[in-house]
Amino acid sequence: MRYVISGAAGFIGSHLCDRFIQSGHEVIAIDNLITGHRENIEHLLDNAGFEFIEHDVCRAVNISGPVDKVFHLASLASPVEYLNHPIETLESGSTGTRNMLEVARRHGASFLLTSTSECYGDPLEHPQPESYWGNVNPVGLRSCYDESKRYAEALTMAYHRVYEIRTNIARVFNTYGPRMALNDGRVVPAFIDQALRGANLTVFGDGSQTRSFCYISDLVEGLVRLSESEERYPVNLGNPSELSILDFANQIRVRFGDKPGIVFKPLPSDDPKVRRPDIRKAKRILGWEPRVELEEGLTLTIDYFKSLAVADLIH
Ligand code: UDP
Repeated sequence: MRYVISGAAGFIGSHLCDRFIQSGHEVIAIDNLITGHRENIEHLLDNAGFEFIEHDVCRAVNISGPVDKVFHLASLASPVEYLNHPIETLESGSTGTRNMLEVARRHGASFLLTSTSECYGDPLEHPQPESYWGNVNPVGLRSCYDESKRYAEALTMAYHRVYEIRTNIARVFNTYGPRMALNDGRVVPAFIDQALRGANLTVFGDGSQTRSFCYISDLVEGLVRLSESEERYPVNLGNPSELSILDFANQIRVRFGDKPGIVFKPLPSDDPKVRRPDIRKAKRILGWEPRVELEEGLTLTIDYFKSLAVADLIH
């Protein structure tokens, strides 16, 4: 198979590239490196089946040769990054999605969109099933991300209906693991970075807001299964095991011998108070559910960030 993956040098994209290259497929990887990192795909560059194109998906994308599947992941996915780049975020969700859908249409390929749990906004239904339409502030600070992803979902469905493209929409919930950017502001790398530096953990609000963290290998498995399915409507992919951010901070503290303290900072605006995927649909149609417990995934992630810190000291 020949895959095109946008956002390929990002956290999730690079793991997806690994998965396909390891199974003997070809990958054309696109990334403009605004938040992705060349280091994430460096180990693949010498592989004959792997091609990297540094390109912004907001400009027309031309691929030569056949394409079997298009995976559109390119997006500024961390709240800090999308708040810093709201227009680029809106553009990659809208124009970027259109350009990648065009690649699928021209090549007769299938298309998978990585959408987001942010489509549910600050949810009034808990846990969130795919049938819930969400509670999104359309003009709030987060709207650049939430609304562009909701638009991307609508555009994907329109391409399916008008051009009969085989499309899939994954609603990705909080995912973590090696290759997250240490400084992208998201809570998992932020707490690990703070603990490694001997700093206090910055808990926003009173820490009672909840999240559910899915380990990267589980998510990649879910994306691959979804891309092989006939399901055209959105499917939640995430780990339903929910905890408060304060509990999460305490888990990190225990990992570091209770040394890090906690400082409370203001809660960002429109920060969802609860989030937990209802994954019954993914279980039913994909036979998928996460396998990696937070305990195990955190060990792998902390080891990765420690190895980066050691490499930094050596260089
Ligand atoms: N958060 C926090 N401290 C941090 C970073 C994030 O308490 O240093 C909180 C944030 O307010 C949110 C949760 O952790 O409630 C998850 O934030 P993240 O940025 O990882 O992603 P989100 O789930 O909001 O998209």
